[in-house]
Amino acid sequence: MPDTMTPEQRHRCMSNIGSKNTKPEMIVRRWLWRQGFRYRLNVKRLPGTPDIVIPKLSTVIFVNGCFWHAHQGCDKYRVPSTNVSFWEEKFKRNRERDARNYNSLHKMGWYVLVVWECQLDKSHRHDTLIALSRRLSQIFLSTHNVKVYTQSSEELPLAAEP
Ligand SMILES: [Zn+2]
Repeated sequence: MPDTMTPEQRHRCMSNIGSKNTKPEMIVRRWLWRQGFRYRLNVKRLPGTPDIVIPKLSTVIFVNGCFWHAHQGCDKYRVPSTNVSFWEEKFKRNRERDARNYNSLHKMGWYVLVVWECQLDKSHRHDTLIALSRRLSQIFLSTHNVKVYTQSSEELPLAAEP
């Protein structure tokens, strides 16, 4: 920690250690902040405690780790080779819980965006963040003109896909 921090900054820095500030989430947060989006973090009164909440856009963003959230078809998600049925059951429950939370949020009128950890790998990061900004701009437009109610849980497309 640099010595130039104020006591208040130092305190905030210390209290962040060991909390939910995982790296992929920080990448998204830093990007959003630089793009001028203002957000709140880990809003506990919302289903699933979304990582990032943008009240002005009625949007919540989950930055999901591929392993624990069982990202289907992803290299980072593999069922461990021991205790297979235990893990399969655990991942199934995690997936079901995610789906339930996203559904509840939709019903409450929130747009739900999911950014996967693997989409923030160096080779995909730029495209993912650009896609995220674009999606948020679309949401801004639709919430300031005509409300669009045809939402399902959205995963950001990887621009590298054909
Ligand atoms: Zn993944």
